[in-house]
Amino acid sequence: NGLESQEILSLETAQPQSLNQSILPLLPSQNNCIDPTEFVVYYQPIVKLPTAKVVGFEALVRWIHPTRGLVSPGEFIPLAEETGLIIPLGSWILKQACQQLTIWQQSYDQVWEKQDIQNGAVPPLTMSVNLSSQQVVQSNLLETIDQILAETNCNPHCLKLEITESIIMKNFQTSVVVLDELRNRGIQLSIDDFGTGYSSLSYLHQFPINTLKVDQSFVRRLQPKTFNSLEKSSQQIQIIRAIVTLAHNLDLDVIAEGIETDEQRQLLQELDCEMGQGYLFSKPLNPEQATQFLLNS
Ligand code: C2E
Ligand code: CA
Ligand code: CA
Ligand code: CA
Repeated sequence: NGLESQEILSLETAQPQSLNQSILPLLPSQNNCIDPTEFVVYYQPIVKLPTAKVVGFEALVRWIHPTRGLVSPGEFIPLAEETGLIIPLGSWILKQACQQLTIWQQSYDQVWEKQDIQNGAVPPLTMSVNLSSQQVVQSNLLETIDQILAETNCNPHCLKLEITESIIMKNFQTSVVVLDELRNRGIQLSIDDFGTGYSSLSYLHQFPINTLKVDQSFVRRLQPKTFNSLEKSSQQIQIIRAIVTLAHNLDLDVIAEGIETDEQRQLLQELDCEMGQGYLFSKPLNPEQATQFLLNS
């Protein structure tokens, strides 16, 4: 049951598909508890663009592989979906993230002046958690979330669930119901990887969402040559400008993902994008590092 470690190492350079198959037997079997020594939740800061101060974190899971170290979720989330492991794993991640948010809330009140938060000059610290396709159609998702919020004493208004356009389109009817129920609880909702799905824009007004996350593929294409060649009117810039305008017209916030350079940050700021996330500010951090980042912010 499970491959020899040598075999796994030799597969490291293989195609993602065969790599997936090689780690499948190592994934914990599906039961209702996750062994906390097998996974860890990392947190990537989300910052306000003019100041670079933290306004939230995105929870990003990593699998602690017996021989390969930390394995990225891109490799095992699809498998966890196929095997059903995503249900207990998703609940475990959500609970970790809510617990962490409750702990951080106090330090955040100190980083910003509490009165600035109260008078609305600064948004409250949020925790964003990714929802998988299986979780959206999970019959007891809402009960599970209610239970986690209660157990961790987490403020639902500070929890933000991220869902991609493709997940919504794949489960349209269920999504309408589930997302409405989440909003009724005060939970915030973001559309992840916005602009990459096959969806039409017409669904946007049917869902009670708060935030659009501009996919990192758009941000990546903002290279210095884009700025010089067509004087800020290149196609890449126009696409982002259109997304930001659309969001603001619909009263939504915008977060740009994958910001790696200061030029990108500057341009996004000029395009009125209010929040950002990316290696320029910080990579995803383990809980201790993330706490330091928050305190130094
Ligand atoms: P995502 O939700 O779009 O998450 C953003 C990904 O971009 C993360 O990869 C993050 O580390 C990476 N990233 C952030 N800033 C930069 C940057 O400046 N440059 C580049 N090149 N990359 C950047 P990660 O952690 O490997 O996660 C990959 C995907 O796996 C996520 O994409 C999400 O779809 C999924 N995922 C991660 N954690 C979870 C989870 O807890 N639950 C579920 N259902 N899915 C998860
Ligand atoms: Ca995400
Ligand atoms: Ca994303
Ligand atoms: Ca993605």
